[in-house]
Amino acid sequence: MATGVSKSELNRRLFSKGFEPSRALGQNFLVDANIARKIAVEASSGQRVRAIEIGPGAGSLTMFLAELFERVLAIEADRRLAIELRALLVERDIDNVEVVHDDVMRFNFLDAGVDLLPTVAVGNLPYNIASQIILRLLEQAWYIESLVVMVQAEMADRLLSAAGNRNASAFGVHVGLLATTKAVLTVPPSVFVPSPKVGSKVVRLDRVRDPLSIVDPKLYTTLLWLIRTTFGHRRQMLRHVLTSEQSAVVKSMGIEVTRRPESLLMDEWIAMARRLEEAGL
Ligand code: SAM
Repeated sequence: MATGVSKSELNRRLFSKGFEPSRALGQNFLVDANIARKIAVEASSGQRVRAIEIGPGAGSLTMFLAELFERVLAIEADRRLAIELRALLVERDIDNVEVVHDDVMRFNFLDAGVDLLPTVAVGNLPYNIASQIILRLLEQAWYIESLVVMVQAEMADRLLSAAGNRNASAFGVHVGLLATTKAVLTVPPSVFVPSPKVGSKVVRLDRVRDPLSIVDPKLYTTLLWLIRTTFGHRRQMLRHVLTSEQSAVVKSMGIEVTRRPESLLMDEWIAMARRLEEAGL
């Protein structure tokens, strides 16, 4: 049975050799094997063919993914961590994990999808770029069926607030176009080294749409424009944010222009964008 990477192992493998965690890369290492196992089990609940792990770090989660999935592709931006992780895998005799030293924001997800393997993305994400990573995975790696990610609690709450909810946000609605979300686990700062200032949550996202299947890329662009523009003035009614021509189109659809963006349901966002697009507005 797999074991995680404990605090003393982190010390032995990294800190005693002068490794200093990088804030810029959001390096907070998980040292609680139970939580790591739970995340891996959640990720493997749909299928167990391939996991792509984002930012494996010292490998605490990787060990459990390797046990539960046929193949694991781990993408790590820190060269030293990638080298250490490869050494740990050899030491533990694990041969189904490929560690790639790359920036996930530049990694070629199209190439990684040519084998058409069903894939789950997993990661304790670097917090400063977590939202960009989630959107990149949903928009560019169409073969990723689900994501199981640990993010800051506050970001998790935005992810979990669907369209039409008081706490809805541009980010949440954007993600909601592509996936449904579910809370999995709340994680305290004490299980990380170094421990972050805020709590974290694990969220599961299951893809509902491929962005390319939202009819056409122009409609998708209009949708994102509409979501960002209206949430940019979230306390304002639609009629104060849209032009008078746009407001007239929205009104003609039976959507009150006195509404605020957080009250709009997903079907209404899509219908509004479609009509504005058709009207050339
Ligand atoms: N998965 C490990 C764990 O749970 O202990 C480490 C998690 S740590 C919060 C985030 C990891 O993502 C770090 O290992 C960091 O080096 C890596 N990382 C940060 N930015 C990255 C990027 N753009 N592409 C790939 N990995 C990145």
